[in-house]
Amino acid sequence: MPQEPGPIISPSIEDYLERIYELIEGKGYARVSDIASALNFSRPSVTAMVQRLDRLGFLRYERYRGLTLTAKGREIARRIQRRHVILTEFFTLLQIDRNLIARDVEGIEHHLSSESLERLELLLEYWKAHPAQLQLILQPPTARRKKSSTKATPPTPPTRP
Ligand code: CA
Repeated sequence: MPQEPGPIISPSIEDYLERIYELIEGKGYARVSDIASALNFSRPSVTAMVQRLDRLGFLRYERYRGLTLTAKGREIARRIQRRHVILTEFFTLLQIDRNLIARDVEGIEHHLSSESLERLELLLEYWKAHPAQLQLILQPPTARRKKSSTKATPPTPPTRP
């Protein structure tokens, strides 16, 4: 069975690293209070998690001085962010409701294997290059059925010997 490289990291760790990365990219820094409001968690629970992530080597945290991601932490954050972008684009092309996309992607991004993600990206690129193919899929099933029934020939009665 193919194995995913690297240790198993929990979805919550990945989400933390992703948010911290986004904050640092956007504002230049990430404070516990920023992470708490971004993830909608209490400050004490964010502090505890950040200390844990420090012990695990994903970031460096110094009270009053803020935090920085280590190379290892940044790599995981980037990986999740990339997945987030690809999956969001994929479901957006499929015209899924925006709120549903946000919810689905938040979960799927942690669980999809790299191999499946790669194939999904190929499909995404294909649809972007061939929008007519995508439209065929997106036609409501009723329209599809009507169209095919106009073309369909009436059923022929079974022949008897
Ligand atoms: Ca998530």
